[in-house]
Amino acid sequence: MANTLYTRKQLLELDACTGCQACADICPAVEAAQDGQLSGVHRLAWMRQAFKGRGGVLRRLFGQKPPSDEDWKRFSETVYRCTLCGNCQEVCPAGIQLKEMWLTLRQELVQNQHYPEKINLIRDNLEESHNVFNEDNSERADWVEDLDEEPEDGLIKDQAQWVYFTGCVAAFFPLAQQVPVNLAQVLQAGQVDFTLLGEEEWCCGFPLLGAGLKDATTGIIAHNLAAVREKKAKGVIFACPSCYMMWREHYHAEGLELYHSTQFLERLIRAGKLPLKRLNLKVTYHDPCDLGRGSREFDAPRAVIKAIPGVELVEMERNREQCLCCGGGGNLEMIDQELNKGIAKQKIDMALATGAEAIITSCQQCVRTMATYCRRNEVPLKVMDISQLVRKALDVEED
Ligand code: SF4
Ligand code: SF4
Repeated sequence: MANTLYTRKQLLELDACTGCQACADICPAVEAAQDGQLSGVHRLAWMRQAFKGRGGVLRRLFGQKPPSDEDWKRFSETVYRCTLCGNCQEVCPAGIQLKEMWLTLRQELVQNQHYPEKINLIRDNLEESHNVFNEDNSERADWVEDLDEEPEDGLIKDQAQWVYFTGCVAAFFPLAQQVPVNLAQVLQAGQVDFTLLGEEEWCCGFPLLGAGLKDATTGIIAHNLAAVREKKAKGVIFACPSCYMMWREHYHAEGLELYHSTQFLERLIRAGKLPLKRLNLKVTYHDPCDLGRGSREFDAPRAVIKAIPGVELVEMERNREQCLCCGGGGNLEMIDQELNKGIAKQKIDMALATGAEAIITSCQQCVRTMATYCRRNEVPLKVMDISQLVRKALDVEED
């Protein structure tokens, strides 16, 4: 195991673990799979051993053997069975930046060729078609046809004040297309001057980062930044928390204002641009990992929900910083569908326990994961993106 990718701080963090197991107790993967090997504490212990095993001739003379290829293979499988939800980091009393550690570890595994082959699909799809689904990227804005009134310009202007960066899941996955369809109509109702990038929008690169392929994101970042700047926009709006986090942390987007849709909607509501009607609905709210723990935005979505007269918000047993992941992150669906479903079940059961009629979230991947679970298992719970809820409350006809 080469330790060149790890920062000095990360190497020190490996030894800072007290073994308290708090990370294991809250890990959605450990709970769903009933497998302690998926926990942070196990992973760190394994890494410490691996570092020691390659610590030079003396260590080897004293019996510390480096892990075999077979050991690596088994370990790698556990590392990728993780949603990168960051809940372990949130509870770690030693303050170890565990999510960053898992990302570096995945980079290490890719570099050493100990990673699931399926991961190559992400890189190949993005190289070939600029989206994770390997669809024709010229169809990226085809969902516009589902608007109440299909705009002549397809919502693509030469210049606009704002760019709405849709993200791959919302653009191509049918169950998630409710997100852009509703958000676009809410933005129209708020008289926001915005444009899409159409086929010039490429995947933001987040799936590569999560896969351990950070080096492959450079060209993508440069392309997307140039496409946005060409529109002379003052900023970018994202409904996808992962795109939003990727842009904030890995794009050099100086001079551009970046907003998650919940933040932008809250601004519009405060400015009196969205006349919200009464809606009698009992809802609960799911904090997407990359918006909540990842971007520390817990309040804007709740402010939007509470601004709708008649909507009652009931919190789940785990919420805000401790919100239980839906199972949709970290490319888990690609690696282990059963575990993905198991985590989604935990989430939906927790939502049902509140007695809410609908679970609201603010992420297309969460919508996709939870709606797919509810549909397949005939669970009587509506899964809605916050843009859909806001649109319901507007003087706009539902489709
Ligand atoms: S990031 Fe989430 S799924 Fe992964 S080890 Fe931590 S708590 Fe478990
Ligand atoms: S919560 Fe932190 S200190 Fe406790 S076992 Fe997990 S990584 Fe170690």
